[in-house]
Amino acid sequence: MVKMDFEQARNRMVEHQIIARGISDPLVIKAMRKVPRHLFVDEGLRSRAYDDYPLPISYGQTISQPYIVALMTEALNLKGNEKFLEIGTGSGYQSAVLAEIVDTVYSVERIPGLAKKSREILDSLGYHNVIIKVGDGTYGWKDKAPFDGILVTAAAPSIPEPLLEQLKDGGRLIIPVGDVFSQDLILVVREGNRFKKSSYGGVRFVKLIGAFGWKEE
Ligand code: SAH
Repeated sequence: MVKMDFEQARNRMVEHQIIARGISDPLVIKAMRKVPRHLFVDEGLRSRAYDDYPLPISYGQTISQPYIVALMTEALNLKGNEKFLEIGTGSGYQSAVLAEIVDTVYSVERIPGLAKKSREILDSLGYHNVIIKVGDGTYGWKDKAPFDGILVTAAAPSIPEPLLEQLKDGGRLIIPVGDVFSQDLILVVREGNRFKKSSYGGVRFVKLIGAFGWKEE
């Protein structure tokens, strides 16, 4: 078997799926060129890691399509010095993309096995500015709040109130909101006690399960 050139596949992904679709933030493009996405999926799926779709990780969860990762990250308008909160660590791929850009990423994952696996891979790649906690991320992470930005990588029935409370003035939150089959990607910008919302289009994520999310089955 010919050994796959992952770096070439990654650059092709950035050109055809990210830049060609209108993502232009240099920080986002640089991060997506750098993070080795293939190492965040199971070995048997590595050859598909740079394709234009989400992939299964374990426990019935998924790693998002590369374009959606780029779109959500760009919407946050990051500058590089942020204290950031992510809900749904999953594979750790989105955490790594954020960690390339911001100062510190606090990430909450409800499934212990995924938190452990992503910790291992993030450590092996030197992403020590990602701090992972196991728990229900719909409560946010009160001890570390407020945050400059918050990204939720699972689908919520509505925006969890604690996340709005833990957003700094001027901060941005991006979250898929809708039913279990389809959601709208909603960007919230905090201005004092006002929360301005706009839509980034339709998406499909796995469920956000917790006190301010969907109930566990
Ligand atoms: N960002 C991830 C995508 C993971 S899929 C990646 O790049 O791979 C969404 C993740 O959200 C799953 O791992 C799921 O277990 C987790 N999740 C769902 N509800 C949660 C909650 N209330 N708190 C924390 N994590 C949650």
